[in-house]
Amino acid sequence: MSLAELTIRELRDKLLAGECTALEATEACLERIGQVEESVHAFTTVSEERALADAEAADAVLRERGAETPPLTGVPLAIKDVIAVEGMPCTCGSKILESFVPPYDATVTSRLKAAGAVVLGKLNMDEFAMGSSTETSAFGPTHNPWDLAKIPGGSSGGSAAAVAADECIGSLGSDTGGSIRQPAAYCGVVGLKPTYGRVSRYGLVAFASSLDQVGPVTKDVADTAALMNVIAGHDPHDSTSATLEVPDFTEALAEDVEGLTIGMPREYFIEGMDPEVDAAVREAIGRLASWGARVEEISLPHTEYGIACYYIIATAEASSNLARYDGVKYGHRAGEPADLMDMYCRTRAEGFGEEVKRRIMLGTYTLSAGYYEAYYRKAQQVRTLIKEDFDRAFERVDVIATPVAPTAAFGLGEKLGDPLQMYLSDIFTITVNLAGVPGLVLPCGFTSAGLPIGLQLIGRPFDEATLIRAGYTFERRTDHHTRRPPL
Ligand code: GLN
Repeated sequence: MSLAELTIRELRDKLLAGECTALEATEACLERIGQVEESVHAFTTVSEERALADAEAADAVLRERGAETPPLTGVPLAIKDVIAVEGMPCTCGSKILESFVPPYDATVTSRLKAAGAVVLGKLNMDEFAMGSSTETSAFGPTHNPWDLAKIPGGSSGGSAAAVAADECIGSLGSDTGGSIRQPAAYCGVVGLKPTYGRVSRYGLVAFASSLDQVGPVTKDVADTAALMNVIAGHDPHDSTSATLEVPDFTEALAEDVEGLTIGMPREYFIEGMDPEVDAAVREAIGRLASWGARVEEISLPHTEYGIACYYIIATAEASSNLARYDGVKYGHRAGEPADLMDMYCRTRAEGFGEEVKRRIMLGTYTLSAGYYEAYYRKAQQVRTLIKEDFDRAFERVDVIATPVAPTAAFGLGEKLGDPLQMYLSDIFTITVNLAGVPGLVLPCGFTSAGLPIGLQLIGRPFDEATLIRAGYTFERRTDHHTRRPPL
């Protein structure tokens, strides 16, 4: 068995026991990257030399300090290309940032480094995190390791595919409307969108600032707890990061769902769902019930407005956030401009892809005078109703269990020509961002074609621990998360 196949916890044990070195683990991941990248294409940058040097340095720390070393010492991870890593390109999957190399680390990056992690490189994504398939990347799509003709999901498709394919031990993604959870489900790995404010956004390139969160993508729930322990917590550089105390998430790794009340929202079990996905999710909830959880049907009545509401708010925020890419300070600049306006226009016309342009136009429209009241303000009001749906539900239940997407991974190219179909695949994940609550996704089965199916567990604000506990119980008593793609 290759060291690249290990989980964070397994690798940590081996490193501390002296059964392998960080250098060997890093080499194993790099070797795996060499074997499968041509078909998977999960990475935009592989930083081989630096990773090897960092691994050697980690080995020195391990020799010197043993069990006292920080928790991720020598663990090879990779980071979505929307999160700044000092000295590595940060393309955001866009031509406009192809040459941008940030001179600083995002807070999550510096926390991973301080915990001893080895950064292998940057992971492919939909351009500026806008998409559900990783096909809008300017650098070509990522392929699903379970079936190379399928998309890995998006926008953190690279983060999920790299973990599923054992190219890294774990990764970070970002989630604005489902971008960690949907690819985690499609690739058969674990992904957590933390509560809005739980993890710093400093150094995360902004898409929709009131929705964006960074979170872990891992091989199991235990590793999600390990990464959350490192990345969560207040950051003075991000005024929206919460000052709440962060629990030790590994303490939630207990097999115990006795007395937990789980809500099944009827709006999430609807006609048109793939019957295999529906059956697997229901079965998973049934198993949680058989271990002592109480399951009841609930209603989140404003769910049907989620997509419309999200695509107004997210595009409005995006149009404003993306105004900074004007060719002046960094990124692509059009050559030989006739004047300043020509430079702005051609820089943006050349640098942005179709989907990003569509979002900028939609967002600019909904923010413009006259339409603002009709669309943007309405959407904010609907957002409050959606949040209140969750508040009310959490008076009765501890966890809400749902499917992640209506189907398993779809085919490359299948929805690319139809943006509305693409948007509809976010129907079960988007409301979680609008409400700001946490959502954990873990594997709960496979279709007859062998594609992974995910279960989504949604929690109260800042109660990631209960999700981790329920998810851990499920994974300890099932083996979906141990299956590997036949690459
Ligand atoms: N698929 C959604 C979108 O295209 C969500 C993306 C995300 O979470 N970053 O906006």
